[in-house]
Amino acid sequence: MSSKIHILKSDIANKIAAGEVVQRPSSAVKELVENSLDAGAQSISVVIKDAGKVLIQVIDDGEGMSPEDALLAFRRHATSKIATAEDLENIRTLGFRGEALASMGSVAQVEMKTRMSQQDVGTLVRVEGDEVKENSVTSCERGTVISVKNLFFNTPARRNFLKSQQTERKNVTDVVTRMALAYPEVGWKYISDDETILDLRPKGIEDRLKDVVGVKQFGQLLRVDERTDFLTLQGFIGRPDFVRKNRVDQYLYLNRRFIVNRAINHAVFQAYEHLLIKGTFPFFVLNLTVDPRTVDVNVHPSKMEVKFGNESQVYRFVLSVIKRTLAQHDLVPSMTVEGGIGAAGPEARLQFGGMPGGQREVNWAGEGMTIPGQSDVEELFQRARPEPGAGSFTPIFQPTAERIIPQGQKSEAGEGPGEGRAIWQIHNKYILSQVKTGLMIVDQHVAHERILYEKVLANFENNLASSQQLLFPQTITLTPNDYVLVQDLLPHLEAIGFVLKPFGKNTVVIDGIPADVRVGSERKILEDVLDEFRNNEHQSTIDARDNLAKSFACKAAIKAGDRLKTHEMISLIDQLFLTSMPYVCPHGRPVVVKVSIEELDRRFGRT
Ligand code: ADP
Ligand code: MG
Repeated sequence: MSSKIHILKSDIANKIAAGEVVQRPSSAVKELVENSLDAGAQSISVVIKDAGKVLIQVIDDGEGMSPEDALLAFRRHATSKIATAEDLENIRTLGFRGEALASMGSVAQVEMKTRMSQQDVGTLVRVEGDEVKENSVTSCERGTVISVKNLFFNTPARRNFLKSQQTERKNVTDVVTRMALAYPEVGWKYISDDETILDLRPKGIEDRLKDVVGVKQFGQLLRVDERTDFLTLQGFIGRPDFVRKNRVDQYLYLNRRFIVNRAINHAVFQAYEHLLIKGTFPFFVLNLTVDPRTVDVNVHPSKMEVKFGNESQVYRFVLSVIKRTLAQHDLVPSMTVEGGIGAAGPEARLQFGGMPGGQREVNWAGEGMTIPGQSDVEELFQRARPEPGAGSFTPIFQPTAERIIPQGQKSEAGEGPGEGRAIWQIHNKYILSQVKTGLMIVDQHVAHERILYEKVLANFENNLASSQQLLFPQTITLTPNDYVLVQDLLPHLEAIGFVLKPFGKNTVVIDGIPADVRVGSERKILEDVLDEFRNNEHQSTIDARDNLAKSFACKAAIKAGDRLKTHEMISLIDQLFLTSMPYVCPHGRPVVVKVSIEELDRRFGRT
């Protein structure tokens, strides 16, 4: 019988293997930059076009390669970094698997120019789909330039698998940011579609942090520096009040290699116990230095996962160092890990809300309250309503809101009921209003969120956004990530009513803001919206516009705690019932609850 098994031809095998190392533009960038760092580069430039799909170019001033090595470098399992099995146990370079260049050569058109300092001329090698297309002498600077063009040109499935331009570009930006933080002594340039996103001179870590993470946040960081014979932990952690709503600003390195490790993350998180509000995450940039012999970095081709010889020891070390750092700054109530120290912390206070007292309230609401029916809404909304549609929404805080105060009403601002309509605000949070069948309670924040959400969606359709020109345009400096995001979202942000000008060097000039945003909060709103956008991006597959609409609605909406004037409350309720779904906010929370007269009567024993 003939055999059904055969050995794959090398070009197919290589394509398969390539997929593990080079999954997307950002992984190619990571591999190339690692090579430059291993070659001792002092200055590295990363240039991408079209999020790296069209071009990825990495230029370094490292040691370069000889003509022979330049060819060998593209062979699979060709490496100068390890030679023996023992070497694999003791890895001191970022690369060691000898597959990155081979992989790129099989799924892209790669051109390399390289020269060692002792050579007069350099070498040019061009590889495409695993074949060497050119190998010649060239003139070039000392160092290496590698250009990866049309990634996955011959593996369409892979190419189609790539995410949106915006996502791929963000991934590349993340890779460069991570590397730049780990190697502050190296100068970095990062250029995307001819725009310089990063231009960082060699510096100390503090300055690098300022450049990359943003100056204004620096004062909120605490330095970590603990050295022992076996383990060293250095870097910065955020003060507990400098928290993020997601994990994007957590940079963990092992021997200056960016890694993903749940155990260490957990140790850091645990050290902040009782200092963080639920759903928030600490900022940190930490480098753990260990003897390479005590850790295995060869767990996955991407080299981002590691296995510690003694993970629990590392865990305890990180936990205690971070706890101590926080304690030194008087930020921890007590040093003991177990025990009732939490009572004084903010978390303990938070918990009271969910304890038996609060519970009863929830039950009460559940029993006695119902979602109102349409007739109640009709009653609430008795006045002539404008035609539903994009243009009919009026900003809650605009002077124009006066327009829709009922005729003859000259109500003063305040908590009392508006003339002709019984309406109150309680605890600067809920709006109470009488309806025919009882009492209606509206959560002001989620109500406004629903209004803004639908308004933004309508703006996207009709381009009817109204913005208010700022008297004094604001110039703000964003983190590189936020800056890239602003550029990606620019048309959508404009559709909402922002008038923004990216100014290079991560600065943006705000000339105008949506009519719904209070003047003075423009900077915060923009930053919050970007934050929220990113937050949502991680957890769901919603498209960018919907995400932006939700993020903006959430951040621009009036908050619990905002005191409203009567006409603002009326305007809010009116606009709420012009929306397509007044009863639920874009995130699915209820907006309106009703207590019926029957229920009130029952409770007062009037039955
Ligand atoms: P690895 O980095 O795992 O060794 P690569 O495929 O990434 O494998 O690179 C193969 C070899 O090519 C490296 O071991 C190194 O000797 C050489 N090389 C790659 N890039 C550079 C560079 N930028 N400068 C100098 N040498 C390089
Ligand atoms: Mg490599």
